[in-house]
Amino acid sequence: IIANPPLLIRDGGVIANGYDETLDELRTLSEHGNEFLVALEQRERERTKMQNLKVGFNRVHGYYIEISHAQIKEIPIDYQRRQTLKNVERFITPELKQFEDKILSAESKALAREKYLYDELLEKLQMDLISLQTSAKALSQLDVIQNLAERAVTLELKAPELTESPGIFIQGGRHPVIEHTQTKPFVPNDITLDAKQRMLIITGPNMGGKSTYMRQTALICLLAHIGSFVPATKAVIGPLDRIFTRIGAADDLTSGRSTFMVEMTETANILHNATEHSLVLIDEIGRGTSTFDGMALAFACAEYLGKHIQSLTLFATHYFELTRLSESLPGVANVHLSAIEHEDTIVFLHRVESGPANQSYGIQVAKLAGLPKPVIQLAEQVLQQLEQGTHHKVEVKKSGKPSTPHPLLAEIAKINPDHLTPKEALECLYQLRKNWVEKL
Ligand code: ADP
Repeated sequence: IIANPPLLIRDGGVIANGYDETLDELRTLSEHGNEFLVALEQRERERTKMQNLKVGFNRVHGYYIEISHAQIKEIPIDYQRRQTLKNVERFITPELKQFEDKILSAESKALAREKYLYDELLEKLQMDLISLQTSAKALSQLDVIQNLAERAVTLELKAPELTESPGIFIQGGRHPVIEHTQTKPFVPNDITLDAKQRMLIITGPNMGGKSTYMRQTALICLLAHIGSFVPATKAVIGPLDRIFTRIGAADDLTSGRSTFMVEMTETANILHNATEHSLVLIDEIGRGTSTFDGMALAFACAEYLGKHIQSLTLFATHYFELTRLSESLPGVANVHLSAIEHEDTIVFLHRVESGPANQSYGIQVAKLAGLPKPVIQLAEQVLQQLEQGTHHKVEVKKSGKPSTPHPLLAEIAKINPDHLTPKEALECLYQLRKNWVEKL
């Protein structure tokens, strides 16, 4: 059998030359056919003085001599018309016909011979089937293990420690793909997930590295569990039953499902099937709907995962409200991907630090992406008003007039905390609550 045989024996070309004399003879015959055709073409061109004359073959009509209508002069007497096309006429001669019979039968005989030899081979192999299967299995295992070993050396991977106690502890973890596809250096990061810290709420700007951080954690766990070394300086990985992911927002319009529907279906699957031994990655949920119900859904999902399922969870989100979960739910902690503002632009450090991000830098990232200046300016203005709680009367500032400050600010400004007794301070707080919150 040749080194890279075709998948099917149907068209032949499976048995190597030199194995069977009869097959070799039949093959030589059809190969020499080509030489015959080149010679015939040359001869006919000279005989007819038609330089564009061509010899060809198609499956339906067989071999032919082709002459374009424009070229046709005097046709030799032994030319019989085989096929008329728009621009060409096709002919056959007794000589070509004879060749065709010989060649086609040689080809079909070769094919039949190959099939026969192949079946014969299978018969022979039958006798050693068990040992062949056993060695194939051993070889394939060896192939995988040697491949993992080669990767471990080439990619500087380290042996992970697999333990019985649940949890994931990684020092200097890297993303095995991103690390090698980008030219800038990769920033390694640590992670600890265990009984005391089961869920990380991950915040930080777009492009900060949230997805990368989550995916590298899952990849390191997966590699460790299949017996591979891992891209980290140290990794201690406990038992995991499954890895669940809710990542990316590819529309599934062909099946009639919107992005949001896909997102929710995937989330439902996770919430129904994840256990306390699962690793769950959630990269943004609740984005395809209005801010409030999206946030509400994200919050409820995170709480359900943290409180009821208690899986090991990485939850990346842009909803800062979720960072408050750590106050009410044991086992939840906040981390963020750091970034710094530098000369009116933003620099991503890709370093995971504890605590929530202090801002989302959405507008800076949009600026980097090249949104038009007036759009950025208006967005900055609207954001400022939203943050001051005056979003119900967002106005575009005209001729630099300052927008009216929120009346609550005026009221707070009147208070001087240094002149209040603790009791007065408390009363003051009650008053503010009564005036502002209970009226809502
Ligand atoms: P996010 O999910 O926060 O939007 P991504 O994880 O998609 O961000 O990362 C955006 C890009 O930043 C990546 O494509 C990669 O080029 C770079 N990046 C992410 N993490 C790191 C890292 N730890 N070190 C170096 N580059 C990183």
